[in-house]
This record gives sequence, structure tokens and C-alpha cells, in this order.
Amino acid sequence: MDSDGPGETVSSKRSLISRLFFGRPRVRSEEELQEMINASEQEGIINEEEGEMLHSIFEFGETMVREIMVPRTDMVCCSTEATVSEILKAIIASGHSRIPVYQGTTDRIVGLVYAKDLLKFWGVPDEEVQVQAVMRTPFFVPETKKIEELLKEFRTRRVHMAIAIDEYGGTSGLVTIEDLLEEIVGDIQDEYDLEEEWLTTKEEGWILVDCRLNIEDFADHFGISIPKEKFDTVGGWLVDLLGRVPLQDEQMTASGLAVTVVECDERTLRKVRVRPLPLNEETEPQC
Ligand code: ADP
Repeated sequence: MDSDGPGETVSSKRSLISRLFFGRPRVRSEEELQEMINASEQEGIINEEEGEMLHSIFEFGETMVREIMVPRTDMVCCSTEATVSEILKAIIASGHSRIPVYQGTTDRIVGLVYAKDLLKFWGVPDEEVQVQAVMRTPFFVPETKKIEELLKEFRTRRVHMAIAIDEYGGTSGLVTIEDLLEEIVGDIQDEYDLEEEWLTTKEEGWILVDCRLNIEDFADHFGISIPKEKFDTVGGWLVDLLGRVPLQDEQMTASGLAVTVVECDERTLRKVRVRPLPLNEETEPQC
């Protein structure tokens, strides 16, 4: 029979919250509550996953849209000039069921096309359907909006996607309700999601890192702390450290890690190889 540790007599029968509070004094601050979650995890009253989920709820209140959105450069969009068949092709190729529509450039999103709205045009020749007739009005939010707030707005407006805009009114990315829920429950792979590897273990202790990876997830993975002020991603961190986009095969060390550029172009870093440095090696940024 499985044992849940010291709490086993009650843990399986009580809800997560009652297990946490059972027999404990009242907590008076968020910090105390977080400490209690850690203690409960150590005592085996709740398991690691439950602990992580509870901690994510606290972080949820602090996280901004910008930190979790799909950046504009990765958005699958269509132009207002596209035909319904072209939009359908984009939906099929990407597996996404909602496609933002732009006028001129992706900085000017003017609508959203939902796959299900296209069904009624099944068999209708392209020239008889205007993209504008199929579009829904986008819901724009500032990229700095707190995701807790956005979740409430998604609920009241009954929409599941928002277009994030920067302070100049340009498009910074998109975010859906799935992205918000993932912040609490971890990665959700739905039937159509393409499995993406952000961190892949390679030979001799090297790890291949997708530079779009959130910097906090990266820091957690390597057990380091990276002060996060001006960037949200691994790519943003490295470009900030160097003051420019690193070159192909360029090597650097930072925060106790050795980093080598594997894939980049003149504007973005795509992939880097990373490995922890032996303890006595230089840890200041170097290139
Ligand atoms: P879908 O199932 O249509 O992809 P979800 O809301 O389940 O929509 O989102 C799954 C992931 O795909 C999320 O990370 C979301 O931000 C992203 N996503 C949704 N639509 C697009 C799109 N048009 N372009 C790029 N990423 C998208």
C-alpha cells in the first residue's frame, strides 16, 4: 500500500486546503502562508506538485501579460487581403483555432478569425467571402496588465484571447486563457498543441535552450538567481548582458554558466547551449 508520510491517515481523505491548515495556528501574512506550504511539503502532508500549484497562485497575482504572452514574431496571423482558403490553410498548418488578422503589418491587428466561424462558409467560393465579414473584434490589453486581472476580464467578456499592445500602440503579442491556466497548473498539451522543447539535454552536460524560454524557468532549472528587470526571456537576458545580439558560435559566461550561441540572426537569438561552470571558473559576464 502507498504511504503519504506522516499525514497519511488524514491526507487522502481531506482536501488540499484542510490538510494544510489542519492543527496549525492562524497565519497572518502571505509569507507565513508560503512558509506553511513549504513546511507541509517537507512533512509530506502535501506532495511537491500540490506545493508548486499553491505557490503559483501567489505568483499569479504578480505576473504581467508580457511575461507569458506569445511574442508578435511567433504569432500566426493573416492579412486582411487573405482569402478564406488562405486563412484555413494557416489554421490547419499551425493547429491554432483563432487567427489574428492584420492590416498592412502585424503591428495593426484589426480582427480575429475563429476556425468555427469559417464553417458556415464551407463550399462558398473565396471571391464571395470578405475576411472582414468573418472577423470578430479583438480584445486589446496593455502588455503590462496583471494576468490575474486579465483572467477576470476573460470571464466577464467571455473571450479567450487578447492581443497585447506596447506603450506605443504596436502589437507585442497574444495571450489566451490556456496561457493563464498553465501558470497555475503547469504545461497543458491539448489535442492540437505542438510539443515544444524549451530545454533539451545534450551531450556532456550541455543543455540546448530555446531563447524564448521564460528567464525565471531558466533560472529555476539551473538553480541560479538572475535579477529580472528589463527582460523576460533567456534571449532578452543575454542580449542585455552583452548590449548587442551575440554572434553565431559566440561563447560567454554568466551567472555561473557557460553559454554558446547555436542559432541566431542579426536581430534575435534562437538557441543556445548552456552548461554549469565548474565552481572555480569565472562567473562574471565574459565574451
Ligand atoms: P489553440 O488550441 O487554438 O492553439 P489555445 O488557447 O489552446 O488555442 O492556445 C494554445 C497555445 O497556442 C497558447 O500558448 C496560445 O498563446 C497559443 N496560440 C493560440 N493562437 C495562436 C496564434 N494564432 N498564433 C500563435 N500562438 C497562438
